[in-house]
Order: sequence, then C-alpha cells, then structure tokens
Amino acid sequence: MSADFHQDLVLREDLFRRYLERRLSADLRDQFESHYLGCDECYEELRATELLMRGLDDRILVRRRVRDVTILRFVENTELLAYSLELNELASAVRLQSDTKVLIDLSMVSRIDSTGLGVLMNCYCHAVKNAGALKLLHPDAPVKHVLSLTKVDSILQSFDDEAAAIASFHA
Ligand SMILES: [Zn+2]
Repeated sequence: MSADFHQDLVLREDLFRRYLERRLSADLRDQFESHYLGCDECYEELRATELLMRGLDDRILVRRRVRDVTILRFVENTELLAYSLELNELASAVRLQSDTKVLIDLSMVSRIDSTGLGVLMNCYCHAVKNAGALKLLHPDAPVKHVLSLTKVDSILQSFDDEAAAIASFHA
C-alpha cells in the first residue's frame, strides 16, 4: 500500500522534516522520493521546508585554492538530490567563478541522483567550454557506484588523493 502524501497537511509537514533529517524508514523514504519527483506541490513545499530548517545564511560550500585549482567542498553531510539546495549552490559556485580548474570534494556527499549527476555534468561542460577542467575528489562508495553505473566516471575523473588530483590538472 502506498502512502497518501496529500491527505493530512500537518502530517505531511512532519514527514518533510523527518525526510530532511533523514529519519524516515528506507521504505517510506523511497515511496516519498518517487512521489515528490512527480509532484510539483510536494517538491516546492519540500524546498521551502529545507530553507526554513537550514536558515538562509548558512554556508553550504567552502572554497579553497591550491595553485590555480579551486577546490569546492560541502561543509556538512550532503545529498545531491533533485530537491537539494546544495545543487543550486554548487551550480552557481562553478558558473559564477572565472577559475575553470575545479575540483569538487565529494567526501561529505552520501547520495546522488540523476539530477545531481546532471548538475555535475553541466558544471563539467562549463569548465571545459572555458578551457578548464572539472574533476572529483573522494567520492564515497555509494556515490562511486552511481558514477560507474551511469558511466559518468568515463567523463568525470575521480581521485582519492588530493595532491594527485591537483597534479593531474597540470599534466
Ligand atoms: Zn505531492
């Protein structure tokens, strides 16, 4: 039996919070994820709830330079999923900067979906179009799995060692 996410709006608000705090059972989480991706109303509400919970001035990404390479790292445990504010943050961080050698540190990223992969690919295209490159650092096992399953790893190079990653930009 599938849950009805529109029956009780107070319950739904609570569900959104528990989802964002990653406190839902895997089963309910999967049901909800397959629902909200097709439901504009839940999608918008979910984003609004996340904004409220996060506070507007929280820093999501930190930026560091090593030689001419910009390293972007998420400050806390992050999921790069369709609703995630982190995705917007990442896309604008890459798009708005003039540096085109970009290394994205994924060590804090525990999950990624096709929207997340799409954003990574857009960032990659932006860097390449501007004569740069974009690579990934420290992808976690589940993220690595998705990268290889979708063959994105044949385009986006991943490294487990920062020095090796930096050196590869200058090879
Ligand atoms: Zn809905």
